[in-house]
Amino acid sequence: MFVKGLKCRECGKEYPDSPLYVCDYCFGPLEVDYDYDKIKKELTREKIKSRDANMWRYQELLPIKGEIKIGKNVGFTPLVKADNLAKALGVKEIYVKNDAVNFPTLSFKDRVVSVAIAKAREFGFKTVACASTGNLANSVAALAASSGYESFVFIPSNLETGKVLGTLIYDTNLVKINGSYDKVNRLCTEIAGKHSWAFVNINLRPYYAEGSKSLTFEMLEQLGFKAPDNVVVPMAGGSLITKVGKAIDEFEYCGLLNEEPHTKIFGAQATGCNPITATVKEKREFIKPVRTPDTIAKSLAIGNPADGYYASDLMSKTGGYGEDATDEEIVEGMKLLAATEGIFTETAGGVTVAVAKKLIEKGYINKNETTVLAITGNGLKTLEALNGKLKEAPVIEANLEEFEGVLAKIKRKK
Ligand SMILES: *Cc1c(COP(=O)(O)O)cnc(C)c1O
Ligand SMILES: [Zn+2]
Repeated sequence: MFVKGLKCRECGKEYPDSPLYVCDYCFGPLEVDYDYDKIKKELTREKIKSRDANMWRYQELLPIKGEIKIGKNVGFTPLVKADNLAKALGVKEIYVKNDAVNFPTLSFKDRVVSVAIAKAREFGFKTVACASTGNLANSVAALAASSGYESFVFIPSNLETGKVLGTLIYDTNLVKINGSYDKVNRLCTEIAGKHSWAFVNINLRPYYAEGSKSLTFEMLEQLGFKAPDNVVVPMAGGSLITKVGKAIDEFEYCGLLNEEPHTKIFGAQATGCNPITATVKEKREFIKPVRTPDTIAKSLAIGNPADGYYASDLMSKTGGYGEDATDEEIVEGMKLLAATEGIFTETAGGVTVAVAKKLIEKGYINKNETTVLAITGNGLKTLEALNGKLKEAPVIEANLEEFEGVLAKIKRKK
């Protein structure tokens, strides 16, 4: 067992391994703390490589005791060398960490939910729950179903059909709430105070967040135990991006990297909900919440991000930056990734690609360096965003003459 317990990120006060999430002394967020010296002695590259290809091959650096029973097929998604995209953007080397094909619900949220439900099991909870912008809803519903838990899922009432039906199919208890995600989250915090449920991203948030690290551990391993020059990460609550930093530091501390890391970490948001990137751009020390998010990137539409301050601090400290993309640029980003690499990502992935393009154009990302884009969700879940945005397909009668007419038109356009 490698988990020491929880530790306040602000004042350092220590707590036992338990379903707590705020420091009762200073109200800072709690974080999982490990016995790193013990891990350093036991975890080797050879050990990692000998294990099954899923997120649990880094189990020592994840906060679960004993045998893994939940989410055993999650993770180890492809790291795609995206040469066509690199050429289109005029840079030497780009990789896509493709969590659009993560198992089972096609987003990176399967990583965080696997850890949270495994921890809920350790703590003896009978019911799991979440406040979600969409992907978390899909993942909690699916993984609760496969591990035999009752689940309650709370979402804003305006989410995409794919996210709603892609939750209901698992026979969960889905509740739609009129208003933004921040209202959903506030209600869920109240519910968590009344019912003893495992809210994966509220009372189990310190554990949930640890699951995100696996995306970065895999990326480092897939690059040959090396850290890239730049990473571009989409941000909602800002948890994933802070764990990119933590995961690189842990691999480095445990002696698992072949060379010293110097990764610049870049964050991406939608212009219609950019509380974290605005903080970075304006060099502020605090987050100004966005009251009424308005963007097609609904999965990232968190106006008051819990980890926003830490995310912004990390970008500045590593020499990275924050940038945002308009709805139009998001759709262009989705189209560019699909047309160059054959990867269909959701709106959040469009944000990442569009922001990477801007960062390259503005010189924040060096053209001769290696950059990894975190593509975190699947395009089939946000089809609405493309309505009327792609060229129409011709409809013809089943005869050769009509087809030849269409073909001539296509050729003329080229
Ligand atoms: C949840 C989510 C993120 C980032 O979430 P954080 O709250 O910042 O950890 C990124 N992409 C997609 C598709 C998501 O669903
Ligand atoms: Zn504290």
